[in-house]
Amino acid sequence: TQTGDVILQTRGLSRSFGALKAVDGVDISVKAGQITGLIGPNGAGKSTLFGLIAGEVQPSAGEVIFDGKPISGLRPDRIFRAGLARTFQIPRPFPQMSVLENVMLSATAQSGETFWNNWFRSGLVAAEERRSRERAMEVLAFTGLADKARDLAGVLSGGQQKLLELARVMMVDPPLILLDEPTAGVNPTLIETLIDKIVALNERGVAFLIVEHNMDMVMRICRHIVVMAQGRVIFEGDPAGVMKEQRVVDAYLGD
Ligand code: ADP
Ligand code: MG
Repeated sequence: TQTGDVILQTRGLSRSFGALKAVDGVDISVKAGQITGLIGPNGAGKSTLFGLIAGEVQPSAGEVIFDGKPISGLRPDRIFRAGLARTFQIPRPFPQMSVLENVMLSATAQSGETFWNNWFRSGLVAAEERRSRERAMEVLAFTGLADKARDLAGVLSGGQQKLLELARVMMVDPPLILLDEPTAGVNPTLIETLIDKIVALNERGVAFLIVEHNMDMVMRICRHIVVMAQGRVIFEGDPAGVMKEQRVVDAYLGD
């Protein structure tokens, strides 16, 4: 996949909870190497859409195509290993494990049993572990958490936990990262750090789809913006276009 090609596409993607159409016939395209923003008021269906894409929520209808292949119905760990990684609105580290262990576990815990089986069968435990540790230290250095490697993940601040989430997904070198509200609850200094890291990864070719309420950040870093309300895409365009669009203003005012 080259920058500018479509790396992720949803077609008619839908999910109802009882009578509520949380995601209702959503068609979106995300381009490789680009930062795409996903905005909309609370309850618009953004996190549910992420869950559908990442395989955690099963669709009522529609499909997800990643890198030209349908991924609907695949288990979340398969999708993660295929290179489509997500972070959560609320970070979910293992609080009693060290920051380093959390990062090292990322590739393994999410890939299930197979990794461990291969690991033991091949008798390359030490080499694998060394490689994993080296890679983990690299991504911790990149995210600015290297000096926290031995600390328990549970004692990190909210902002540091967001950086830890980013470090964890970086372990699989994903071409596309989905970030759900990366700056929520993060102090202004760390927000700048996060933005720098996202932009730096993007410059290396990583595409992002970012749910974010911080409009300043969205306008600064997103090339393309998709707006959802009540389960549907109501508008998409470049940042300037979105700001001018009355439907977007209405959606936020709860028309
Ligand atoms: P957003 O992330 O845009 O704020 P969500 O995707 O979290 O929106 O939620 C969209 C709608 O779906 C909301 O009305 C929410 O209450 C509902 N919803 C989300 N997940 C579930 C669930 N597991 N069961 C029932 N309703 C849900
Ligand atoms: Mg949400």
